[in-house]
Amino acid sequence: MPFFTSVDCPLLKEPIQAHCAIPPKVLERLAALELRTLGDLLFHWPIRYENKTQIFPLADVYPGLVSQFQGQIERLDHPRTARQRLRFVFADDRAALPVVFYHVFPSMVARCVPGTWVRCFGEIREDNGGLFLAHPEIQFLSSNEAPVSEALTPVYPMTQGVSQQILKKLIQRAITLVGDWFRTTNDPIRQFPAIPSSIPGYNLGFVHALHYIHMPPPDTDVEAMMTRQHPAYQRLIFEELCAFHYILSAQRTNARTFPAKPLHVSPGAKKTLADHFGYVLTGAQQKAVEDILEDLTQPVPMNRLLQGDVGSGKTIVAAFAALAAVETGLQVALMAPTEVLAVQLHERFSHWFAAFGKTVVLLQGGMTAKRKTAVLAQLASGEAAVAIGTHALFQDGVDFADLGLVIIDEQHRFGVEQRLKLVQKSKDFLPHRLFMTATPIPRTLAMTYYGDMPCSVLNERPAHRKPIQTSLVPSERRADVIERLKSFCQTGQQVYWVCALIEESEHIRAQAAEQTFELLQKMAPECRFALLHGRQSSKQKISVLQDFKDRKFDVLVATSVVEVGVDVPNANLMVIENAERLGLSQCHQLRGRVGRGSEAAYCVLLYQHPCSDVAKQRLSVLKATEDGFKIAEEDLTLRGAGDILGVRQTGVCAFKVADLQRDYRLLPQCRDWLVGQPFGPVEAQSTWLAAWLETEGAYYHA
Ligand code: ADP
Ligand code: MG
Repeated sequence: MPFFTSVDCPLLKEPIQAHCAIPPKVLERLAALELRTLGDLLFHWPIRYENKTQIFPLADVYPGLVSQFQGQIERLDHPRTARQRLRFVFADDRAALPVVFYHVFPSMVARCVPGTWVRCFGEIREDNGGLFLAHPEIQFLSSNEAPVSEALTPVYPMTQGVSQQILKKLIQRAITLVGDWFRTTNDPIRQFPAIPSSIPGYNLGFVHALHYIHMPPPDTDVEAMMTRQHPAYQRLIFEELCAFHYILSAQRTNARTFPAKPLHVSPGAKKTLADHFGYVLTGAQQKAVEDILEDLTQPVPMNRLLQGDVGSGKTIVAAFAALAAVETGLQVALMAPTEVLAVQLHERFSHWFAAFGKTVVLLQGGMTAKRKTAVLAQLASGEAAVAIGTHALFQDGVDFADLGLVIIDEQHRFGVEQRLKLVQKSKDFLPHRLFMTATPIPRTLAMTYYGDMPCSVLNERPAHRKPIQTSLVPSERRADVIERLKSFCQTGQQVYWVCALIEESEHIRAQAAEQTFELLQKMAPECRFALLHGRQSSKQKISVLQDFKDRKFDVLVATSVVEVGVDVPNANLMVIENAERLGLSQCHQLRGRVGRGSEAAYCVLLYQHPCSDVAKQRLSVLKATEDGFKIAEEDLTLRGAGDILGVRQTGVCAFKVADLQRDYRLLPQCRDWLVGQPFGPVEAQSTWLAAWLETEGAYYHA
């Protein structure tokens, strides 16, 4: 992400070696740290600071003290243990203290001559021989008089063979160069002068803030630096978020300047499709369909978000959009996050579109070469009207004859790069785009993140649905739950049993599911169990799900892969083990797998002891409400924004200093601030924006 201030400053993009004399070896190592330009240096943040601005008197030391000391070597001692390689005693004017080194070069031993002045920075420790200074950083002085640093000393993250000193010097040089550059230019935007005074650090210039971070004065609140609450950081964060916000909206404005082909659908075709479903659309579905179909008649690309809680019936809405495209003679690409889901969607769409004589193809990873060639040919010739697949849909070699609409299901599960590829598939016209998401985004966040992106919300559950009864059960009472499972199966209904383990590897998750699978089989031999986990091949997963759907099994034991889009209306009991380990929204998504038919549905949240009151309280939010938005709000306060927006993956947003997870609260202020700026509202022609989009803009979806 650029900073407004820095976009025009050419220096930031210049290679380090153009301004500093560095041996090629060091340059290589810097490159390995992703440090190539002066800008990279400036945005390389310290991980902590050392205070070398004063000399601590040796008479006052205590164990655990980390500080700087200075004295004259009195004598060399015999090392007290085998680990200690060098030991000497040094003294200032009032006290003496032993210094211990654990590994030393011979050259250093040679310099430790009695009478020499040394300055050491390190930690005071204590063993049975008393206090000593443990393996400090040491500097040999020519006299007692050497000056101390004026600023706190930054310590940078691991440097792979580049010394802290070299790094520090390079960064300071970069600050000086960039500072000089800014002093000789006085474009008002470059100064970024009008930061609202509610932002700490609003009165700091861009370079000034950097200077502060890399060379803070001795009295700096280091804690605030580390948590990024310090004004110097806040000021940069604010600027970066403004740039982020600006670019998102500019890209959208930009996209609207491209033409799209208008799509039309006849009332007769709509009715044919509606009759196919066998139920009436909810009011919310009807409204969403109308909005979407209206957008599609325009000669500019639609860019709409369809937000609806899990089970709210987004797929049917998407089918109407697809219908408009195929009725106009254009193609539709429908992208799903997993193969399992792609297969399910393919099944549904094939069924629906058969009535219109349209071909729906599925593009899968594991297809035979022959089958794949055939499908690709159908897409290239236009014979296939709808293509469904994972991101494989947008790989090289997949060509559409005339793509009119792109639908992305569960859009939050895709990386931004994947989403961007979609756009590149188009030729002279941009396809219309419909993004679907089941992660309800709290309003505060949605307004800023999605900005002016129009949004349809399905906030109504299909009418016949009964509420899902949710209960919290401690895991000791698992046997009771198994009894309930048995009686459930006896009535011919089906059950999901989800083993929620997070953080661990897929391997461990699969293992946990396997163990549960075996245990349940033993405890309920009369039920038929199937197992589903992420270590199975797509083919296996698909066939397990199909069999479950065909009622060949009563219980599906799974890792959280079932979270995504599985639709089995006969499944009415969901058991989530270790529910306390999942985010609330994730639990809610899982729960939405049941209650899709007309029977009463239940969800059991099994939690492990010890489970804190807070955790239990959180889970009880799920018990109290089925409103995905409320649940998401709760999650937001607990977990922060990044998880919810799905932008946490590294590299996706490439922020230099801001962190949506931590700083999202600033977003509304950014938006307000941008409205009042001379270069807003969103000038897509802005030269720097154009340049920036070309280089880095690829990270963002328009
Ligand atoms: P999601 O929004 O989670 O993608 P789906 O589109 O998969 O939800 O729909 C969930 C289930 O609800 C499906 O079984 C679907 O057939 C059913 N459904 C959707 N809309 C309606 C409706 N208006 N009336 C009854 N059932 C519906
Ligand atoms: Mg869905």
